[in-house]
Amino acid sequence: MDRSIKLQLSGVRKSFGPLEVCKGIGLTVREGEMVCLIGASGSGKSTLLRCINLLEQIDDGEILLDGADITDPDLDPQLIRRRIGIVFQSYNLFPHMTAVENVMLAPLRIHKRSRADLLPEITAMFARFGLADRLTHYPDQMSGGQQQRVAIIRALAMKPEIMLFDEVTSALDPELVAEVLDVVRELKRMGMTMVLATHEMSFAREAADRICFLDKGVIVEEGKPTQIFEYPQHERTREFLKRVL
Ligand code: ADP
Ligand code: MG
Repeated sequence: MDRSIKLQLSGVRKSFGPLEVCKGIGLTVREGEMVCLIGASGSGKSTLLRCINLLEQIDDGEILLDGADITDPDLDPQLIRRRIGIVFQSYNLFPHMTAVENVMLAPLRIHKRSRADLLPEITAMFARFGLADRLTHYPDQMSGGQQQRVAIIRALAMKPEIMLFDEVTSALDPELVAEVLDVVRELKRMGMTMVLATHEMSFAREAADRICFLDKGVIVEEGKPTQIFEYPQHERTREFLKRVL
């Protein structure tokens, strides 16, 4: 079955002053697909994710979500952003609020839902991601891996249609990486559409539907994990993989 296209980028360009960071990027993500962006530091992965989430304004090109161009200046970027969850390397939970308060903050304010209405579904998400006993903990009472899982739940509580992950395990101690990647795997099983920038090559290889290799603001090569990792077609892909694998 050909799944419908959720997100489609074409000709996306973004410069910071004289530095062109995205040089005409095209990318198609289908519903339920998990796409991993790999590439050296500085290749433009974070900028691309920030453009998709409208945290950066693109200079040229299109970003279609369900077929509609979300970079249309007549649209309210706040409304678009609610449809696209993003999680960063730094979890940025509010330190003076418990885990559950952190998660409820946006849905209470923006969806105007009540605590009583939200609590059952948020409790279920905590349980699903192995945090059943952490609802009322403060960030400094939790490990980095637990805090990052709360940050992911916080994004999910807004019921996004697509999730973006920017190096979500890079700040974690090695033994905490797996528990966060397990959450991403679980989201995939749930059918979430996802785009991840990651340095976790073995995870990308095992879990991604498609890998995009970025180099200097260009998607040099994309394909299924076996194709990219075992039969890379481009010299630049081969050089990158030689360095990181
Ligand atoms: P990656 O995530 O692949 O490491 P980034 O998207 O963070 O790459 O960065 C790509 C390039 O853009 C880098 O050279 C970086 O210094 C530059 N860059 C990113 N954000 C800004 C900014 N706000 N202002 C100026 N340069 C930036
Ligand atoms: Mg980055």
